[in-house]
Amino acid sequence: MPAPMTARILDFDTTKLTSAYSRNPSKKTDTRSSVSRLITRLSTVLQTSIELAEILHIFNDEVRQIVPFDGIAYQHQASRYEYSIGKTNGHSTSYRLQTPDDFLGELSFHRNKTRFTEAELETIERLIVSLIYPLRNGLRYQEAVKSALTDALTGAGNRISMENVMAREFDLASRYHQPLSILMLDLDYFKNVNDQHGHATGDYVLKSVVHSLQAASRCADMTFRYGGEEFGILLLDTTTEMALSLAENLSKELASTPMIHDKQEIKITLSFGITQINESFKSHDQWIDMADKALYQSKQNGRNQATIINCD
Ligand code: GH3
Ligand code: MG
Ligand code: MG
Repeated sequence: MPAPMTARILDFDTTKLTSAYSRNPSKKTDTRSSVSRLITRLSTVLQTSIELAEILHIFNDEVRQIVPFDGIAYQHQASRYEYSIGKTNGHSTSYRLQTPDDFLGELSFHRNKTRFTEAELETIERLIVSLIYPLRNGLRYQEAVKSALTDALTGAGNRISMENVMAREFDLASRYHQPLSILMLDLDYFKNVNDQHGHATGDYVLKSVVHSLQAASRCADMTFRYGGEEFGILLLDTTTEMALSLAENLSKELASTPMIHDKQEIKITLSFGITQINESFKSHDQWIDMADKALYQSKQNGRNQATIINCD
């Protein structure tokens, strides 16, 4: 029977940690010196990367040389980051990593056959101290990368991120012959919303629309702001027919639940352009342009509708 999860809080007030480790001076000196050597080494090798996955990978490789275990798992809920390596079942010990300024997530060590001894737990805790600053830097770096790729107003991916993701997924889906569709959409007569209700209400509407898009599409991270009041949704493993039904559902939802802001009711409709990849597209740009063309046609034909174009 695996031991129940022990959740220890490691509060990285270094004075507390030092005193905790000096409580037990009778430990074997050879173990203590190899731990000390590893601590010195960790402080160097963990600084060779700023990528969270890489940092945790190095930490895993180094620590298991001194304390045998089968796997580690790490999660930082605020940034929705999860990482695991090896087998993460069996006996485990878990640490909530708290510094005076930040909560740095939860790290657990797993071992299938035998429980961790008190001496091993003490060693693990000493080694975790070396992880704290690299981990904090990795989390900050990840946050910076994320905000560089996110539209500040709506939280959707920005144009740069859209370019990167569309290019990557276009290549993958083409290579593996998977269906892949893009849904471009633009708010109809949105200028009127600003003119009649003010720019703040316009901003509110944009945020609400993105919220609905993210709720309706299966993966929230695949919604992008292409520009102004135009958005693109990448639909993995999706044919044009499935994309069309998503567009119809979104339009129905918007029609049935008008937005209210500052006690004013705002009605919005959307125009859509849908394109699924096929061999005729040589690059993701052509595919996006085609969906944009389909969107333009929806506008030309009276708005509040979807148009599918898959080839010239
Ligand atoms: P159409 O149906 O042809 O798309 O008409 P439209 O009025 O939606 O399009 P138009 O291109 O004439 O106007 C787009 C408007 O979107 C004008 C611009 O001020 C507004 N807009 C773009 N970005 C933002 C934003 O971040 N916040 C707000 N409030 N308005 C924005
Ligand atoms: Mg518009
Ligand atoms: Mg527009």
